[in-house]
Amino acid sequence: MDGTEAAQIAAQGTAPDHGKLQWRILIGFVAGLIAGLLAYTFARDAAWVGQAITYVTNPIGQIFLRLLFMLVIPLLFSALVVGIAEMGEVRSLGRVGLKTLGYTVVVSSIAVAISLALVNLIRPGDGIDPAAAADLLAQGAEGASSIVAASAESDAGVNQVIAIVPSNIIAAMSANDILAVMFFALFFGIGLLMVQTRRTETLKDAIEGVFEVAMKLIGFVIRLAPIAIFCFMFNLTAQFGWDLLVKLAAFVAVVLLALGIQMFGVFPLILRFVARKSPVAFFRQTREASLMAFSTASSNATLPTALRVADTELRLPRRIARFVLTIGATANQNGTAMFEGVTVLFLAQFFGVGLSLMDQAFVMLICILAGIGTAGVPGGSLPVIALILVGVGVDPAGIGLILGVDRFLDMCRTTLNVVGDLVAAQTISTLSPELAEDDTGPLAAPA
Ligand code: ASP
Repeated sequence: MDGTEAAQIAAQGTAPDHGKLQWRILIGFVAGLIAGLLAYTFARDAAWVGQAITYVTNPIGQIFLRLLFMLVIPLLFSALVVGIAEMGEVRSLGRVGLKTLGYTVVVSSIAVAISLALVNLIRPGDGIDPAAAADLLAQGAEGASSIVAASAESDAGVNQVIAIVPSNIIAAMSANDILAVMFFALFFGIGLLMVQTRRTETLKDAIEGVFEVAMKLIGFVIRLAPIAIFCFMFNLTAQFGWDLLVKLAAFVAVVLLALGIQMFGVFPLILRFVARKSPVAFFRQTREASLMAFSTASSNATLPTALRVADTELRLPRRIARFVLTIGATANQNGTAMFEGVTVLFLAQFFGVGLSLMDQAFVMLICILAGIGTAGVPGGSLPVIALILVGVGVDPAGIGLILGVDRFLDMCRTTLNVVGDLVAAQTISTLSPELAEDDTGPLAAPA
């Protein structure tokens, strides 16, 4: 899939009514919040509130989550396989590929470590009445019981590491073992890269087809979000009341702080000391891509702009820019990795689920991989977060808590994703001077 195709697919995710959907989501959020607060204030112990939650709002929310779960395995698998197989189209850039991979792993690790440290330090989710949280947890666990049961017997210690390599991929998929599925997808992608025949080309096309269909279906499911969000917010505020708003504000603040440290602390250091480029000039030259990322909340939709900025403003070698930015739009998502880390730990704190150091290491590893596996579309993080929550034993219905503020945070994290890709392209260009001279390749996507 080249840049143009990626942009086309992304454009489907930002269709004209997408803006309207955002408003509907906001309305669902506010309406659910108000209805829940009214129920909390005036009818806290009324039987009808409990019934409404059990028979209406909870089931609707659960169905929404199950639809997301249903799509996550095909989406992750196809996105990862295609991401790796794409490297084969630019085999001449093999060393750049390795550098890009190394860069992505190191910088994503820094990003995730910052975000996990911040949530542990500030603990924005603490302080909710444990009895009420346990209540909510029990309710949600019922709905998602099959998924939760599947991940309940997770191993500890060295077995957890061994379990990353699945002995049976179908079993791993049916158990929603996301890390094992990702491992298989990476392995499969490398295999696909190494066998270049007519048949493997067809297979690659078919897997790209799966990716496109999954993206389209995610788009449909997201349309149900306003109703689901109303239900989630009602459930939560009817039980937690005003406390919830304070926690939510703290959550938003921690996400923004984490993203800010990466953007204005880590990136300038990389630019200055590794890429040897003035951070101020860099931020000025990449303004157009940042604005585009902020307003579309989609790395894929921003790809053509990012390619143009790399060419006309940063004046990077085209082959390197095309390679790093195309792969990076799906694979190098610092903002997404950070957001996923903060969200999972915040919800664990909120629901009083203690996470051991081992659990946190699991979250960190999976967030780094998730930065690679998350689709570069609006809300691409959501199914991945739902799955990680199950993996660490937190009620996935808790995701309803953050959906209402997700659009704004999505705009911010996508900006970091895209700027991060441009920082990567700049850095790898500096580290690959041999490729900079022989540079006549055309750009992937029309500007
Ligand atoms: N919207 C993000 C992107 O396109 C993905 C996500 O974190 O939801 O980069």
